[in-house]
Amino acid sequence: MSKTFEIAVFHGDGIGPEIMAPTLDLLRGLDHDFRFTDCPAGAASYLDCGSDLPQASLDTARQADAILLSALGDPAVRYPDGTEMTPQIDIRIALDLYAGVRPVRIVPGMRTPLALPDGKVVDFVLVRESTEGLFHTQGKGRVEADLAEETLRLTRRTTEKVCRFAFDLARDRKAAGQKGRVTSVDKANVFRAFAFWREVFDGVAGDYPDLTSDHAYVDAMALWFVLKPWDWDVMVTENMFGDILSDLGAGLMGGLGMAPSADIGDDHAVFQPCHGSAPDIAGQGIANPIAMILSAAMMLDWLGRRHGDDTLVRDGARVHAAVDACLAAGDVTVDLGGALDTQGAARAIMARL
Ligand code: ATP
Repeated sequence: MSKTFEIAVFHGDGIGPEIMAPTLDLLRGLDHDFRFTDCPAGAASYLDCGSDLPQASLDTARQADAILLSALGDPAVRYPDGTEMTPQIDIRIALDLYAGVRPVRIVPGMRTPLALPDGKVVDFVLVRESTEGLFHTQGKGRVEADLAEETLRLTRRTTEKVCRFAFDLARDRKAAGQKGRVTSVDKANVFRAFAFWREVFDGVAGDYPDLTSDHAYVDAMALWFVLKPWDWDVMVTENMFGDILSDLGAGLMGGLGMAPSADIGDDHAVFQPCHGSAPDIAGQGIANPIAMILSAAMMLDWLGRRHGDDTLVRDGARVHAAVDACLAAGDVTVDLGGALDTQGAARAIMARL
């Protein structure tokens, strides 16, 4: 008898529920035993019960086999001090999800702003450390009349773990025909903290003699994302650098509606689209569901590898292939130049499975 996978589901705000519903339909259509539990969180939950991340939702997430999270938050709903709520960041910290995985793949049909030379394939993964770095003092920075200060913190434990995660990922990708290369993206020429990061990265690299490792400064990497994006395989970087570069990566794919992500720790993992709740198009039924659906495909792959179930890994790849086929055929939402609404685009993907 196959295992029942408990999935905690955060439907979210704005377009969040609109893209989550067809994603759950797609998962229900696969031959696996998923049990979905709804977890209120975000702006609607804050208005409803005074908490943007109720303890019961966090408990359900902690006990689940995996967590599916749609776009959370609404710029119009803020804490009394004027800041926006970011329960997705609180979940990362609470569950120690140190590895933010941001794949960047450009396939025919995407609205990439790049003119790629013939034969050049863009397929790399940015691994963003997601629990410390410049987010260390998030919400607790010091602000005085004439001075504001935030602290960047890198611990050896987490830096080592996230680097090891990147090398393991590169090893898996090499087995599937990729380059087997890991690049540390840092600013070691200016900050001692990043010299420390490099030292830890190089120490981990020594355990992977079968892979290539190198370093790049983050400013140069922003340039190379645009000038030679086909050159990279796996990159690993600090939290804030990763936050910025992952949006640049989404831009290479033609927008946030295309960009899936995973935040992975030793015991838990969250799968969510990179984009926000898009209040400007919420309620119209036109949101692009691809980033959410590809995030679910990443969940299938992660669950399959973790539980030794090849059928899940294969289904993750099938969902990717179905999305690629829809992109190539133009069976997509208006943001990608198509004519379909959210439901129609999701149905086109399901029809190809
Ligand atoms: P956040 O700060 O919460 O991450 P954001 O500032 O990045 O949010 P989004 O809510 O992601 O902003 O929206 C940015 C733009 O991208 C908006 O114009 C929005 O309509 C568009 N957008 C985001 N997600 C989608 C999607 N799935 N389909 C279509 N358009 C989208």
